[in-house]
Amino acid sequence: MADSSLVFTVEKTCPLCGEVTRVTKAKSRLVVIKTDWDFCTHYRDFNPYYYVPWVCEKCGYAADEKHFSAAMPTSHKKTIGDFLKRRHVEFKYSLERYMPDVVAAYKLAIFYEEMVHSSMAYRASLYLKLAWIYRIAEDTENERIYLIRAAESYEKSIYTERYPLGDLTDSMVMYLLGAMNYEMGDVEKATQYISRMVNDNGLRLSNPKLMDKIKDLWTELREKRAEEQAKLAKKNAAGVAKLDAALEKRVKK
Ligand SMILES: [Zn+2]
Repeated sequence: MADSSLVFTVEKTCPLCGEVTRVTKAKSRLVVIKTDWDFCTHYRDFNPYYYVPWVCEKCGYAADEKHFSAAMPTSHKKTIGDFLKRRHVEFKYSLERYMPDVVAAYKLAIFYEEMVHSSMAYRASLYLKLAWIYRIAEDTENERIYLIRAAESYEKSIYTERYPLGDLTDSMVMYLLGAMNYEMGDVEKATQYISRMVNDNGLRLSNPKLMDKIKDLWTELREKRAEEQAKLAKKNAAGVAKLDAALEKRVKK
């Protein structure tokens, strides 16, 4: 999965301890193979999601680029600083990351975001990316665990948090909820989310790109439902035929 020509080291100042630490960045010339319904992009011979969480090699703080590069609120500094004073997080820097370190880096970043109660939507985005890591590694059991967490957090977010959150709109989250449920095989729940948006003219004007995705997923969901109904009808027909045969036997006797 790693290709050292696609990654490089940069030095960044840790927002928690203020020391300089090395982190890995991915180059932008990546070849896309496909993108899943929930926006998980598969690249040729490389997985940039491996490098999303940066970990400070001095103090053990971890966050994605956005939170690592931003000034940390004093209260968060105190909460995480107090925690790390009592513990030693050993995380060695290496240019290329492999699966155990990838998962450890995500879990650390998630742990700190949960500790300071970051927005549900922000935490959900990390759960979702970790689910993608497991998906690409074909670990369906763990993928499902983190997809469920991401879906639950986005659901809570949509009812409790004020949108838009940065670039993220509530329509994008609704679409994502539909897509995640579809990835988990729940066609019914996915349909509930997507059906609410498919005829939204305002959304068609404000975000035509998202509307294209919604329509594509809607078509796919309708096909899946038709397939499932055909299967059910076939099963029922077979059941009725069996019943007819059994009744016929009884009548003959
Ligand atoms: Zn640090």
